[in-house]
Amino acid sequence: MRPAFAHLADDLDNLRQQNRYRSRRVVQSVQGVYVQMDGRKLVNFCSNDYLGLAQHPDVINAFKNAVDEFGVGSGSAHLICGHSAIHHALEDELADFTGRDRALLFSTGYMANVGIITALLARTDAVFEDRLNHASLLDGGLASGAIFKRYAHADTDALARHLQAASGNKLIVTDGVFSMDGDFAPLDRLSALAKQHNAWLMVDDAHGLGVIGTQGKGVLDYYGVSQDDVPILMGTLGKGFGTFGAFVAGSETLIETLIQKARTYIYTTAMPTAVAAATRASLLLLIKDQWRREKLHVLSDRFKAGANDLGLPLMPSASAIQPLLVGDSQAAVALSNTLFKAGFLVSAIRPPTVAQGSARLRITFSALHEIQHVDGLLDALSTVKL
Ligand SMILES: *Cc1c(COP(=O)(O)O)cnc(C)c1O
Repeated sequence: MRPAFAHLADDLDNLRQQNRYRSRRVVQSVQGVYVQMDGRKLVNFCSNDYLGLAQHPDVINAFKNAVDEFGVGSGSAHLICGHSAIHHALEDELADFTGRDRALLFSTGYMANVGIITALLARTDAVFEDRLNHASLLDGGLASGAIFKRYAHADTDALARHLQAASGNKLIVTDGVFSMDGDFAPLDRLSALAKQHNAWLMVDDAHGLGVIGTQGKGVLDYYGVSQDDVPILMGTLGKGFGTFGAFVAGSETLIETLIQKARTYIYTTAMPTAVAAATRASLLLLIKDQWRREKLHVLSDRFKAGANDLGLPLMPSASAIQPLLVGDSQAAVALSNTLFKAGFLVSAIRPPTVAQGSARLRITFSALHEIQHVDGLLDALSTVKL
């Protein structure tokens, strides 16, 4: 008899052979435009801290002051005694920012997505998801037990056929800005389809909030769609906001339903009050500092022009995410290692995070990058074969 779980070691070997083995690099410094790794200083092109708010003095001070006043742990879940006045104020401010009736904090984006989708759907309902949705949205759809349909990326005709054939309550779920591709979901067509088929539309705008639209209001603002068009807006706080956690915003009925029913909301400890206090400070900066969004445009335009001149396989993206499509996993890892040696931190994204044969370098910009950082990266890329 083989010992229990003897396959685990074989599975790991298989991952290595397929170039899918993942390992962590240890960061030895503050996470910013520069990071220290293996004793070397690298220019960081893979953070989601798009606006550079994670290290902002106002955000840091808000965090420190709140720790002095409220301590570190929140002590319990929101529904027991963990929901502080600071959490509550942040929810009000996020509702105001997104132009929605109410907002509700979750401890992470992953938990928000699983909690929202599973709270809303029964087995007789149906959920429709873009094939390239974030794993947490797909996991939420599967965990809901509802009929689960994936449609080809941004293919609203395929979605229409699925909707036509479905019964029960229908929920369409999409990333706002696709996390590994950087393109926008077609929210104009998706919201029209949702109305036509009496469905609800949920948008996860983790990568649009702070970066896209007036005052960083995200892809919903870009398309000019409202709470009526998109009843569920989910956002994360660990990306453009530079802190940690997530929220959902929508109608009074939606938020009250989630408080009663979302298991990942009910059965978990509230985020530390200081994280909420830091996020209130970052929200003010995110709204006010238009220059951060403008800077991101300048940087990504520079990069796109340079990448085109070099004939690099740039993917179409109007966001702070500018992936270079490599295809083969081993080649993507080799490229990432070459860039590392040249002083640039760029992550190789491989299956199963992206589809088979579509491994890529995921390059992200921060408002704190300078043109010379982008030019340096282009220089390094000009010496490699892509
Ligand atoms: C990062 C991300 C999440 C998960 O958010 P966390 O707060 O990191 O758990 C969810 N959806 C999308 C699209 C993301 O990029």
